[in-house]
Amino acid sequence: MLDRSAFYPGGGGQPPDHGVLLWGGVQTRIVDARKGDDLYLVPAEGDPLPDVGATVRGAVEDPRRTALMRTHSGLHVLCGVVFRDFGALVTGGNMEPLTARMDFNLETVPAGFREAVEAACNTELRADRQIVVRELPRDDAFQIPDIIRTATNLVPEDVKEVRIVHIVGLDQQADGGTHVASTAQVGRIRVVKVENKGKGFRRLRIAIDEL
Ligand SMILES: [Zn+2]
Repeated sequence: MLDRSAFYPGGGGQPPDHGVLLWGGVQTRIVDARKGDDLYLVPAEGDPLPDVGATVRGAVEDPRRTALMRTHSGLHVLCGVVFRDFGALVTGGNMEPLTARMDFNLETVPAGFREAVEAACNTELRADRQIVVRELPRDDAFQIPDIIRTATNLVPEDVKEVRIVHIVGLDQQADGGTHVASTAQVGRIRVVKVENKGKGFRRLRIAIDEL
């Protein structure tokens, strides 16, 4: 457990960062992280552990983190497009680096749905929309209609400041995850599959490709 750390602990469907701690000429590989009251970094089995009170440097594994940022921002683009064009709300989601699924409440799947969603997502990526992260007092945050749509029941009562991720012109959500700075940095979105999981329950599987 560190007094401060840049490792993302996981949450909101985004898995934790991996990386290393460097100290005393050795390194401890970090293969997982967990957020309770504190942030716990999970070392690789058998790696040396620093003593309590030791000063360490942390390094986040960049290829994994960057892939997760692109994937997470890509999911917000998908969410924005499916709501705008089909009026469907998100009911769940999960991601791994460059692959993800998102669940929607959508009564019927129109003909050409998969192709239409993919094309609209990639139009938004090419438009290079800015992605802005800011914190707002709770009452101000819940004045934003989009936030009410996605998060009213997800943000605990005692949270006073709500972190907002805004894809300018497309989507705003209360969100704790890590994101790229603009939609062009995501790459391309491929809608791999649309699954029917029951009445009104559609699962979209996507992959993030290079431009
Ligand atoms: Zn998110």
